[in-house]
Amino acid sequence: MKYRDLNPSTRTIMTPGPVEAEPRVLRAMATPILGQFDPEFTYIMNETMEMIRDLFQTQNHWAFPIDGTSRAGLEAVLGSMIEPGDSVFIPIYGRFGHLLTEIAVRYGAEVYNIETDWGTVFDPQDVIREIDRVRPKIVAMVHGETSTGCMQPLKAIGRACRERDILFVVDAVATVGGVEVKADEWMIDAVIGGTQKCLSVPSGMAPITFNSRVEKLLLQRKKIEQGLVEHGAKRVEQTRMIRSNYFDLSQLMDYWGPAQLNHHTEATSMLYALREGLRIVLEEGLSQRFERHQLNATALVKGIQAMGLTLYGNPACKLPVVTCISVPEGIDGESVRSMLLNDFDIEIASSFGPLKGKIWRIGTMGYSCRKKNVLHVLGALEAVLLRHGAEIEVGKAVQAALDVY
Ligand SMILES: *Cc1c(COP(=O)(O)O)cnc(C)c1O
Repeated sequence: MKYRDLNPSTRTIMTPGPVEAEPRVLRAMATPILGQFDPEFTYIMNETMEMIRDLFQTQNHWAFPIDGTSRAGLEAVLGSMIEPGDSVFIPIYGRFGHLLTEIAVRYGAEVYNIETDWGTVFDPQDVIREIDRVRPKIVAMVHGETSTGCMQPLKAIGRACRERDILFVVDAVATVGGVEVKADEWMIDAVIGGTQKCLSVPSGMAPITFNSRVEKLLLQRKKIEQGLVEHGAKRVEQTRMIRSNYFDLSQLMDYWGPAQLNHHTEATSMLYALREGLRIVLEEGLSQRFERHQLNATALVKGIQAMGLTLYGNPACKLPVVTCISVPEGIDGESVRSMLLNDFDIEIASSFGPLKGKIWRIGTMGYSCRKKNVLHVLGALEAVLLRHGAEIEVGKAVQAALDVY
C-alpha cells in the first residue's frame, strides 16, 4: 500500500486553536453511529442543547450547534439576521472584526466600521457614541481577538444596544469555555462559540445561542419570504437571492426544535464530541475552569517576563487564553517556531497581517491549558532562544512559573 497508516505525532499544542483534544472527546468520537431520527440520537441532541445553554449562561430557548467550523456559526447568525440594505456596525480591533465585516458585506449589509490600534480594545463609551451616530440595526463585535490577544469588555455595549432596541451579536469563539461569557447578563442577542479552542473538541462545529428578539426577526423574515406578509415583492426577491439554505437559522430551528423537520444530516460523531466536551466543562464547573485558565496564563506570563521577553499589547485588556510576545530584535520568529515543533513537538503560533513575524502567540486553552504544558513550553522556548543567540535571562522562566503554581 502506497499510503502508510495514519500516525500523527503527539504534539503539545500551545496555539490559539486548534488545541489538543480532550482524550474523552476523542473516545466519544469512536463510538457507534446512530440514525438522525433514532430517539437515542434526538435525546443526545436535546442534552447538547441544554448544555450549550449552560455554557453561554443563558435561559434562551434556542441553543444548538451549527455544523462547520466557527465561521459557519458566524455566517449562520449574521446571514440569517441580515437583510440586504440593513445597517450593521462593526468595531474592529483585530483580524476577526474584519471577518465579521466581510461576512456582513457578503449578505448585503451596509457596514459601518471603526478601528482601533491592534493590541488595544475600545473604550465602550466610544463605541456607544458611534452607535448613537450610526443607529444601526445590528452591532457585531468580537469578544476575544485571538489575532492580537485582546479582550473587549461587552457589558456596557450590550446594555446600550438593548436600550436602543439594536441587536447585539458577539463572536465568542475564542473565549467561551475559558473565560466568562454571560449571554443574558451582558444582553447579547446572539452569540457564537467555537469547539477547537477552549472546549478542546476538534474543529467542525460551532455552538450558538440566540434569544427571542432574534427569533422574532427570523420568523418575520420567514413569513415575508413565504409571501404570508405584504412586504413589497422586489425586496422579497432580493432577500431570496442571497439566502443560504445550509445556514438558514429558521430551517435549523425546525430541525433542532420539536418539529424535527429534516434539514441536513446531523454530524453524528462531531455531536458526540461536542456533547462530551460540554460535559467535561460542566463537570469541572465554569468558575473553576475560568480560574484554571487564569492560573496557567499567569504562570506563562511570569515565565515569559522572567526570561526578559516583552509582551505585546495593552496588559489592561489582555485576553487570558492568548499570550502575545514580541519577537526580539534580530531573531527569526519562524525559525524559532520550526525548532520548537521539530525538536520539542511544541506548536506555538505566529500572527496575521500587520503582526505577521512580529509576535508569537501562545494559547492556554482547554485541555492544552495545564501546568505540564506551560512548564514544557517555557523550558523549550528558553532552550530554542539560546540556540538562536538571543540575549535572555537564563534559568529563570520555569522557576517563575513554578513560583506561581
Ligand atoms: C478561531 C476564530 C474564528 C474562526 O474559527 P474557525 O473555526 O477557524 O472558522 C473566528 N473568530 C475568532 C475570534 C476566532 O478566534
